[in-house]
Amino acid sequence: MREHSIYAKNRDHVKIHSRWVCGLCGHKIKKNDLTVDHIVPLSRGGTHDLENLRLVHAKCNIIKGNLLDSEFPIHKRCYFLWLNFLTIFLP
Ligand SMILES: [Zn+2]
Repeated sequence: MREHSIYAKNRDHVKIHSRWVCGLCGHKIKKNDLTVDHIVPLSRGGTHDLENLRLVHAKCNIIKGNLLDSEFPIHKRCYFLWLNFLTIFLP
């Protein structure tokens, strides 16, 4: 199977079996605000394997960029919480 179709298949699996909680900030994800994140980024040697994929908010994924979870500065984690606070309480 080609790389891309493996990714498409596993991405769909993650969406179906996810608890719809963002893997980065821990808040609920709406269908119109999701992306599938590579936990270890492809640019860092990550794969399309199921174990390396998870649902995250689109905005959280942008902030994460090509970092590993362990490389997140704490202020970025707080930023996630703040973004979600805004999402929940503003129209
Ligand atoms: Zn998030």
